[in-house]
Amino acid sequence: MFSARLPGAASKEGAYDLQQKKRGLRPLFPVCPAPSAGPAQRRGGRRAVKSRLQRLVLLTGLVLLGVAAGVALSRAGVGVPCLFHAATGLDCPGCGATRMLSALAAGDLAAAWRSNPALLLLCPLLALLAVRLAAGWARTGTLRPSPVQTFLLWACAAVLLVFGVLRNLPFYPY
Ligand SMILES: [Zn+2]
Repeated sequence: MFSARLPGAASKEGAYDLQQKKRGLRPLFPVCPAPSAGPAQRRGGRRAVKSRLQRLVLLTGLVLLGVAAGVALSRAGVGVPCLFHAATGLDCPGCGATRMLSALAAGDLAAAWRSNPALLLLCPLLALLAVRLAAGWARTGTLRPSPVQTFLLWACAAVLLVFGVLRNLPFYPY
């Protein structure tokens, strides 16, 4: 008796759904819409973005302070020591970075070029990448570079590596 009623009941429900659809009404068991972010979640998200922005401002301030201190030391004739240079006597890809920044701050492009041409050329690109990555992190909370950004970061690393080798060869002009 039970097994005889079940298919009948199922077909009745199916017929009901079909009638509702013809009338333009919702079916008996409507599909639940995906839950959307409520006001509390949106407020929490905004708070998290604000907190990350505050941390970014703090970090930018610290970086600028460090750069200013490096430039001030360089102008006073005190170089920021490089462990690689101290240990090997060779110039690393970053050697001359503070002298380059100091020269840039003084508007002396030729001196900046002589100090570290690779970093001078890569500076705008690296700054742009840093800003884009920081903006992405502030928005989403994750540091996830796009494929183009990843490629550019690796390309910068490759350029600096090649420069680090070339600048220690005898024919390097500076
Ligand atoms: Zn160095």
